[in-house]
Amino acid sequence: MKEILENSAMSAYLNRLIGDEGMALLAAFPEGKEYSDEELADMTEINLNAVRHTLYTLYERRLAEYRRIKNNETGWLTYLWHLLPHNINTAIENELEIVLEKLKKRERYEASNDFYMCRECGVTLTFNQAIDIEFKCPNCGTQTSHYDNSLLLHALSQRVEEMSEILG
Ligand SMILES: [Zn+2]
Repeated sequence: MKEILENSAMSAYLNRLIGDEGMALLAAFPEGKEYSDEELADMTEINLNAVRHTLYTLYERRLAEYRRIKNNETGWLTYLWHLLPHNINTAIENELEIVLEKLKKRERYEASNDFYMCRECGVTLTFNQAIDIEFKCPNCGTQTSHYDNSLLLHALSQRVEEMSEILG
């Protein structure tokens, strides 16, 4: 975990995911051991709800998992958590794939539409939206003009290509 927190790309990913408190929890979470959420809250002095929130967020990305133990006398369940730091590359790849899908969708949208923009207030319409209202801005009534999105489209295509290469 220490190497991961020292890796800038990996720690940036984790910070977006779990925030500063989550990062503090990871830094204080002893390697290769398992703890209940309450023990972790005591050890780190982080609020119990925040500890739980971080653990479940990590669990959703398969970066942490738990073992459930039942106390035979009281019937109470205890969840013992441990980290799965070796799954970090898969978690980051999955996130990149989601971002890539969004970019591709936006690229298709930009490539398959013609756009019209109001110079007065910046409203952008697709051809189909604009033709219905005779190319007048729905906001201020100014005549819209054709908007050349080729620069944006080019930037999107480049980003899609770069990310596709990274993901292989
Ligand atoms: Zn306008």
